[in-house]
Amino acid sequence: MLLSIKNLHAEIEGSPILKGINLEVKAGEVHAIMGPNGSGKSTLASVLAGREEYEVTAGEVLFQGKDLLELAPEDRAREGVFLAFQYPVEIPGVSTTNFLRTAVNQVREYRGQEPLDAVKFLTLMKEKMKLVEIDQKLLSRSLNEGFSGGEKKRNEIFQMAMLEPTLAVLDETDSGLDIDALRIVSNGVNKLKSPNNATIVVTHYQRLLDYIVPDFVHVLYNGKIVKSGTKELALELEEKGYDWIKAEADAAT
Ligand code: ADP
Ligand code: MG
Ligand code: MG
Repeated sequence: MLLSIKNLHAEIEGSPILKGINLEVKAGEVHAIMGPNGSGKSTLASVLAGREEYEVTAGEVLFQGKDLLELAPEDRAREGVFLAFQYPVEIPGVSTTNFLRTAVNQVREYRGQEPLDAVKFLTLMKEKMKLVEIDQKLLSRSLNEGFSGGEKKRNEIFQMAMLEPTLAVLDETDSGLDIDALRIVSNGVNKLKSPNNATIVVTHYQRLLDYIVPDFVHVLYNGKIVKSGTKELALELEEKGYDWIKAEADAAT
C-alpha cells in the first residue's frame, strides 16, 4: 500500500473537521475526492501537506510504511509526496527554471542520487516541457508572478512532472478555474500516471472528471468518507447532486 489513512481526525482552532477518514491508495491508482462545500476536502489535503494550522487529534497516515505525520512538510516532499499548493508563492526574481533546479536536486540528494548537472537538467526540462505542453517563456519568468490561473496550473503540473512524485495530492479549490485550466490539470494527471505513482485529486468540479478517469471516487461529507465507488459514482453525482448522499449519511448517524 502506498498510502494508508486510518481513522484520521483533525481539527482547526478547536473545531473538529475530519472525523475518521479511512483511505487506502495503491501505486498506479488515481483517486478523486469529491463532496459538498465545507465537507473537509481541503482540510484533508492540508493535513497531508503538514500545514501547521491543523491539529491531528487521532488516527494515522502511513506513506510507504512511514509515519507521514511525523515528517516536516519539506521532508514529505523529499519522500516523494507532491502537494500542488506547496509552491503557490510568487518569487520575484527567481525563474521557475532556477527554482526547479534547486527543488529537483534537493529531492535527488535526499534520495541519495547525484545532482543533475546543467546539461542533464536541461534535457529533463525539455522532455517534461513536451509532456505537459508548457511554453519555455513561462519558465523563464519569475515564479508565479503575474501568472494567469491557467498559467499557474500549467506551471504546477510542470513542477509535478519535474519532481516525479510517488504520490501527488492536487486540491482544485480555485473557483476561477476555467475549462482550459481543467484540461491542463487533467491532461497532466493522465500523462503522468504510471504503475509506480498515485494521484489524489480533490475537486469541487464534476467537470474535471470528464477528463480525468479516476479508478476510485470518494465522497467526503461532514469529515468522513461516506461513499466510495468508481467513475460511475461521479456520473451519478453529476446527475443527482449530493442531497441523496447527505440523507443516507445523516440517516446512518
Ligand atoms: P472543503 O474543501 O470540502 O470545501 P474545507 O476543508 O475547506 O472544506 O473546510 C471544512 C470545514 O472547516 C468548513 O466547515 C470550514 O468552515 C472549516 N474551516 C476551514 N478553515 C477554518 C478555520 N481557519 N477556522 C475554523 N474553521 C475552518
Ligand atoms: Mg471549500
Ligand atoms: Mg476545498
